[in-house]
Amino acid sequence: MAALPNISDIREMQAWSDHARRQGKRIVMVPTMGFLHEGHLSLVRQGRKEGDCLVVSIFANPAQFAPSEDFGSYPRDLERDVRLLMEERVDLLFNPTAEDMYPRGYQTYVDVEQVSRPLCGAHRAGHFRGVATVVLKLFHIVRPHAAMFGLKDYQQVQVIRRMSEDLNLDVEIVACPTVRASDGLAMSSRNHYLEPAEREAARCLQSALGKAEALVRGGETLAERIREAVVEEISRHPPARLEYADLCDPKELQPVEEVKGPTLLALCAWVGKARLIDNRVLAGKEP
Ligand code: AMP
Repeated sequence: MAALPNISDIREMQAWSDHARRQGKRIVMVPTMGFLHEGHLSLVRQGRKEGDCLVVSIFANPAQFAPSEDFGSYPRDLERDVRLLMEERVDLLFNPTAEDMYPRGYQTYVDVEQVSRPLCGAHRAGHFRGVATVVLKLFHIVRPHAAMFGLKDYQQVQVIRRMSEDLNLDVEIVACPTVRASDGLAMSSRNHYLEPAEREAARCLQSALGKAEALVRGGETLAERIREAVVEEISRHPPARLEYADLCDPKELQPVEEVKGPTLLALCAWVGKARLIDNRVLAGKEP
């Protein structure tokens, strides 16, 4: 099998994309932090259908990790990632260095003010500032016509959509459904941290979402009651420890007291060293 074309240099990447654009090609990009799994690959496969040139970026972005978080230990396996991307016949891998992305003296950041604040934003200071900044940089470097994101990171999709609209970015944001393992756990690079017993406990995220959905189907509309059921389900599965479980409107992510229409239930729990998130839109479909 031929090697996977690979660019690390920012200017070279821009020149590659300019050339593709001049040839009338539609560029689709899939931004990732690597340690690829089926969730990432589903974005790649969907991306293939969205355009002519498929670019995957691998960049573990230091700006979206707080100093206390797992940037240093975030799982990495570039060799395996390259093999997987070759199997998917990706056109190009872009994997810049942190020194090139954030050179000495770097000082410009993007803050998407409101939609970044609740849910993960309330628990991970500066996280979405780092995400919005790197995605905007990647868009300027890769110059895609469309970019693929996973709804597993629901708030991230809303932050990027808001940024794209506010800053008039000419990039179509395509949101893809969450891919789960056979035990129901949403795929995540961080699942790698889980010991077998922790993996078992981690299934409570999915079962808590199921319980909430069953309550809503049964006619429950009070957010607090639904939340209580989620809290109880997680508490029955130590070592899982709930960080948040919030019901909010699916676009602006503002809290709701009643489920009157499509409502996002977003939750986050720690299991061992892994911080896991999952979500479901109750009483409707994702926007
Ligand atoms: P990450 O490498 O964690 O930054 O993820 C890169 C992209 O893959 C993001 O758009 C994620 O939302 C998406 N992604 C991660 N896990 C999944 C999953 N289980 N299903 C669908 N998309 C996912």
